[in-house]
Amino acid sequence: MTRMLLRCGQLIDGVGRTMSDAAVSVENGVITRVRPWTSESSEDVARHDVVHDFGDRTVLPGLIEAHGHMGLLGAGLERSAAEIAAQVFRNVRQALREGFTTVRDAGGIDGGVAACVSTGLVPGPKLMPSGPFLSQTGGHADQRDRWHGHGPVTIPGLVRVALVVDGPDEVRRAAREAFRAGATQVKVCVSGGVSSGGGLDRCQFSVAELRAAVDEAEGHGTYVHAHAHSAASVRHGIAAGVRHFEHGSLLDRETAELMAEVGASLVPTLLVLHRMIATAPPETAATLTALMGSMRESMLLARDAGVVLGSGSDLLGIGQRDRAEEIVLKSEILGPMAALVSATSVNATILGIADRVGSVAEGKVADLLVLDGDPLTDPGVLIRPGAVSAVFQAGVLAPREGAGDAA
Ligand code: ZN
Ligand code: ZN
Repeated sequence: MTRMLLRCGQLIDGVGRTMSDAAVSVENGVITRVRPWTSESSEDVARHDVVHDFGDRTVLPGLIEAHGHMGLLGAGLERSAAEIAAQVFRNVRQALREGFTTVRDAGGIDGGVAACVSTGLVPGPKLMPSGPFLSQTGGHADQRDRWHGHGPVTIPGLVRVALVVDGPDEVRRAAREAFRAGATQVKVCVSGGVSSGGGLDRCQFSVAELRAAVDEAEGHGTYVHAHAHSAASVRHGIAAGVRHFEHGSLLDRETAELMAEVGASLVPTLLVLHRMIATAPPETAATLTALMGSMRESMLLARDAGVVLGSGSDLLGIGQRDRAEEIVLKSEILGPMAALVSATSVNATILGIADRVGSVAEGKVADLLVLDGDPLTDPGVLIRPGAVSAVFQAGVLAPREGAGDAA
């Protein structure tokens, strides 16, 4: 039994509270006590095997990413399987280094990647993969070459972008395939998307097809989450029993209220748009900027209606960095505390793991982030070079550096 004591200049607990000069006790990877340092007696301190004094630094729950794509590296037919694996694991290690202790991968990596992390072969956050996107023929994740039908690269266990399926039976079978390969939930596409060239206002899959996915997920004790931009596509998903939505960039008040009424969650994804705008040609940048504006408005509509608002970056490509910039962007809209709560306890609730992680409280796993700065007064600290002082996974200090990590 290892007993560890952390002294925190400031504690942000993940559910909206703070404590200055806090003492957090951890035994065998689980938080056993949270209280003011001043109430620790010298005997209390001596009972611990290890004491970390973080001075004036801030301790918060390990961050949770609700929408990653660590295996979507972009056009890559020229890449070897070895390079694809190296790039995927680089994304995985970097997320942990930046303070993310749990990542829901919203499509693209196969279960073998999560297994490499959970068995300790590769350092990384706990991964919860959706596995391949389920997409209708010609839908958002049907990335086959239009005329010749060649698919994106699939490497069993490592990356598989999509299963293109039609009809309830095929959808059900695809969901089973995804679970068989290690998915912890199923991802479906119910509208078009930015990366697939539009159709954001169109609905994809029939209600019957979506119901088959929902039914299959429930049979596995989990849920379906849906790529959905428009209000119509969200309502389409709700009609089929889907309760978790991604992006939601074109909502209206009625749909936001319906989402709240049925207990649906929304994970807005600002960072991917923010990064695309920065590099797009002027005309595309203008379209993306407009979409960013409506995503912001939709997020506020959803918040005001009482929808559960999670946090996801939707980062794509090789060399994924500064994932927490999503929280910085959300801080500007929702305020820093709401943005942090969204990326910790709310995301834990959406992912179905709130009994274990997402807050600094007795009985929770000691997944913790130590920051040299205060993200409540200065959210930019979340992505400032050198500001991550330490990351703990179940009470164990995560490695800081590894081979092949050059930017
Ligand atoms: Zn999407
Ligand atoms: Zn995505």
